[in-house]
Amino acid sequence: MEPLDYLVLAPHPDDAELGAGGTIALLLAGGARVGVLDLTDGEPTPHGSPEIRARETEAATAVLGLTWRGNLGLTNRRLEADLTARAKLAGALRELRPRVLFAPYWEDAHPDHVAASALIDAARFWAKLTKSDLAGTPHYPEKIVYYFSVHLRLRVQPSFVLDVSAHLETKMKAIACYRSQFIEGRPTTPPTILDDLRDRARYWGWTIGAQYGEPFLIREEVGLRGLRDLL
Ligand SMILES: [Zn+2]
Repeated sequence: MEPLDYLVLAPHPDDAELGAGGTIALLLAGGARVGVLDLTDGEPTPHGSPEIRARETEAATAVLGLTWRGNLGLTNRRLEADLTARAKLAGALRELRPRVLFAPYWEDAHPDHVAASALIDAARFWAKLTKSDLAGTPHYPEKIVYYFSVHLRLRVQPSFVLDVSAHLETKMKAIACYRSQFIEGRPTTPPTILDDLRDRARYWGWTIGAQYGEPFLIREEVGLRGLRDLL
């Protein structure tokens, strides 16, 4: 397979859409090759099942028009940044060869999200190792960009906010595919979960003088080749 430009790594199917759905649509519209690798199947949940969640994931994938989507097959609720998981993910990175990784922000109430963040950092380093028994050939993704789909009501200072105004409807449509997570059994009086998500995108848009935005954090400095895209 031709290498991906961007790979969004998600603890559960729906986290990529929640944290970076608008950005995924924006990157794809610009001609980039964008993939999502879900680390677990996200089940059990109160209104889902592995079959339902897989169907919802497939529908969301089609809405976004992803270049590639896969599932690493690690265990939901028991995700650990151990050596077995690290080797599995590092092997996948060597096969998919993305230039940039998206990972969940490291501080969270959900232990799977905390573990996923640490696991991705470690697997990125392992992916470049020579003289290893990992699948594929050495590859080092240049950057890790952290997205926010957290179970804590944090207000973290992002490194940058991306203007996703033109792609917010695609993000909302992709999220709505996960009926078992966001619609079934949920209160219907406003603000619903979907209302909340839209309002937050509006807030981040406001911070940059745009309609809708998605915030991201990079641990290292953000390098730019020019200032043309500054808002
Ligand atoms: Zn999650």
